[in-house]
Amino acid sequence: MINQAKRPITVGIIGLGLIGASLAAGLRAREVEVTLLGADHSADTTAKAKSRGLIDAVLNDPKALCEQADVLVLAVPVLSTTEVLRQLAPYLMDGKTILTDVGSVKGSLIRAVQDVFGELPTWLVPGHPIAGAENSGVDAADPNLFDRHQVILTPHERSDLEAIEIVTSIWRDVGADIQMMTVERHDEVLAATSHLPHLLAFSLVDTLAQESEKYEIFHYAAGGFRDFTRIAASDPTMWHDIFLSNDAATLNVLDHYISHLEGLRTALRERDGDTLKQVFIRAKRARDYFSSILEERSR
Ligand code: NAP
Repeated sequence: MINQAKRPITVGIIGLGLIGASLAAGLRAREVEVTLLGADHSADTTAKAKSRGLIDAVLNDPKALCEQADVLVLAVPVLSTTEVLRQLAPYLMDGKTILTDVGSVKGSLIRAVQDVFGELPTWLVPGHPIAGAENSGVDAADPNLFDRHQVILTPHERSDLEAIEIVTSIWRDVGADIQMMTVERHDEVLAATSHLPHLLAFSLVDTLAQESEKYEIFHYAAGGFRDFTRIAASDPTMWHDIFLSNDAATLNVLDHYISHLEGLRTALRERDGDTLKQVFIRAKRARDYFSSILEERSR
């Protein structure tokens, strides 16, 4: 899928954890004609990625990485982005390398880029794969992680069209569908659909874990509890970074949610069964509709 004139392109992935290593694994598994360079601050991680054939070479030197890569993919935790951008900045100025990322928050990336470069360069095409897992690190790499999942790209007004096309083809090559969004919309949508649910899951598990009968509670926890709290096993550092980077949008949706929850609390205290039932009926209808969309997509 990559523009034939550009083949074989060289892609440098910085951060060979779940997302970075899965992208490499996906390109490898589909035999995409691409040279893959990998960088990570853990020597153990880069050694594993190389020995498993996920990357062609380890290249941690920012200068060499920028000189050799046509596309650089930042796949580090959100709050590490500025530090990595600062290391790359002197070598990206000539505009030969396309820069994209996989971070879960896009506003903070834009702020970091503006901070480091003083503007939004044409070769910047921010991205975010809507796919993941509770496990992290190179050992969790999954070649099919992005298959039939969406990747949201949030190019800015001056992003180069060819750069957008090339980033799009890399993600299509690993089976993903591409959606375009503004940065603001992305951060609002993700605050509601991903960040809030994670906050609720972390909060519920933490609340129950502090109960004196926690062993009994967890012992008898049924499927509902497991389904609802699965995501509380997600990486704490990653989520610390996401919440601090998308605080405004998350606070908005959290306030909305708290007022809805207070409505339910009032209904329960007043034994207002009608209100409770209406909420449950509306929620079930919405969830059934959502499931049908997911089924349709998987077909
Ligand atoms: P991960 O498994 O922890 O991988 C991050 C990798 O980056 C680790 O190998 C880490 O090494 C390395 N790293 C950290 N700081 C670095 C630096 N300054 N220079 C070089 N390497 C560095 O995390 P992930 O789940 O792949 O997440 C990566 C990005 O993807 C995050 O921005 C996250 O928001 C986004 N994302 C995650 C998911 C998900 O479900 N996990 C989904 C979509 C998007 P150490 O482990 O040694 O620190």
